[in-house]
Amino acid sequence: MESSAKHILIVEDEQHLAQGIRFNLDAEGYRVTVVGDGPSALRLVRADPTAVDLIILDLMLPGMSGYAVCEQIRQAGNDVPILILSARTLTEDRIRGLDVGADQYLQKPFELEELLAMVRNLLTRRGRFKLPAAGKKVGDVLEFGRARVNFDTFEVTVDGKRLRLTPMELKLLRFFAEHEGSVLSRNQLLDAVWGLKSTVVTRTVDNFVMRLRKYFEADPARPRHFLSVRGAGYRFVAEAEEEEAPG
Ligand code: CA
Repeated sequence: MESSAKHILIVEDEQHLAQGIRFNLDAEGYRVTVVGDGPSALRLVRADPTAVDLIILDLMLPGMSGYAVCEQIRQAGNDVPILILSARTLTEDRIRGLDVGADQYLQKPFELEELLAMVRNLLTRRGRFKLPAAGKKVGDVLEFGRARVNFDTFEVTVDGKRLRLTPMELKLLRFFAEHEGSVLSRNQLLDAVWGLKSTVVTRTVDNFVMRLRKYFEADPARPRHFLSVRGAGYRFVAEAEEEEAPG
């Protein structure tokens, strides 16, 4: 059915690459829009935040970088899946992409099949995103503090109020829940949740933990569930605890 076709926005200034991707996505039955710069993409998404089901975003764009585009979309509270395409190869670039809220990062040149697989995966992720290596079994519903999280339907409420978490935030939360009470290092989390085997210094984990605290802690500055363990990493506890005294 034409009307139910998923709508994919390609933001890419290299015309022939954009058209090549469009051609292949068309062939897969997707509806595709191509724009050549960030401001055009933002206009489109702002006009109707639900108009697009997925954004394929180049990093090196004229005028405004893909990072900035991604950041602005997320700051507007839009959690549309974003797949970054980039010729940049540095791990730092990849991490920065995830820091600003991208869901996936694909390096140019890429295999068409890989792109299509990522697209399929991102478009269905609301139903089933890939779970991190399982520790303790966590049921579909996690309750802690004032929060209730349904990992099956992705419904999250705090004091009965609905929240919208991004898939990466949910993935991190689930990993914490599966390892409740254990101290998890940043590298462990980067590896398990983001799939990054990396020793580079990154604030990715800290940024995401900050977001979880903002959602779930009564006082994010004095967390009772998402605890920092000095020099080691983080620890999640369902039963509120005091954070380890610094020192
Ligand atoms: Ca470009």
